[in-house]
Amino acid sequence: MKRLWPLLAAYVLCSGHGFAEENADPHAVERERMVRQDIASDALGRAGIKDPAVLKAMSAVKRHEFVPAALRGQAYADRPLPIGHGQTISQPYIVAAMTEMLKPEKDDVALEIGTGSGYQAAVLSTLVKQVYSIEIMAELGEQAAARLKKLGYGNVETRVGDGYFGWKEHGPFDAIIVTAASTHIPPPLIEQLKPGGRMVIPVGPPFQVQQLMLLEKQADSAIKQRSLMPVQFVPLTRSK
Ligand code: SAH
Repeated sequence: MKRLWPLLAAYVLCSGHGFAEENADPHAVERERMVRQDIASDALGRAGIKDPAVLKAMSAVKRHEFVPAALRGQAYADRPLPIGHGQTISQPYIVAAMTEMLKPEKDDVALEIGTGSGYQAAVLSTLVKQVYSIEIMAELGEQAAARLKKLGYGNVETRVGDGYFGWKEHGPFDAIIVTAASTHIPPPLIEQLKPGGRMVIPVGPPFQVQQLMLLEKQADSAIKQRSLMPVQFVPLTRSK
């Protein structure tokens, strides 16, 4: 009987630990459901996201921390949500799809245009070495910076400014992700892409359907681009 005590103690400690963890993140079950059903599975006529690293990132990042408190109950529905100032946090499936298309590698340096809530930057930051992210609206940019810091995403650096011009000091980049719709691909972003680098960007008219484009800069700097899927993003605005 004596010998059973350590086992029993271990069991109590372990299960107690699991319980405490679930308490710490009451949304864990909903998040797993979202990843399994809305992101990984082939549904609604679209291909599920297959890259295990991307699925792991989507499971790890707590989307409910990136939406306004009043909308937390909807954080794990596969929908964009308003984040104030007429802007939105993107639909989780689209975040996962864009991240997969970027083919992130662990030593990559990535640039995001359109920090918004900071959610996409957080997802990407779990897959690469460093993320730089630019937001044009000062209040959103400052809130996202504070949120990312509080949540411990130490490899994301943000700034407020017009992302059309990229962030030359930290370039060239292995990956560039633009999360606002542009009528054309900004030439400064093409310049700041490394040979071998990838860019994902919605291109098309504002407030309508745009095409998500994948642009790859070849080793000889030639540009290859193709259209991936129709999307709807808020417009890339320009500083005056
Ligand atoms: N990636 C965000 C969602 C982006 S919504 C997230 O995960 O929450 C698009 C964002 O792009 C908005 O916050 C908008 O203010 C910003 N934006 C629009 N034009 C921009 C520009 N020229 N430079 C930087 N950010 C821009």
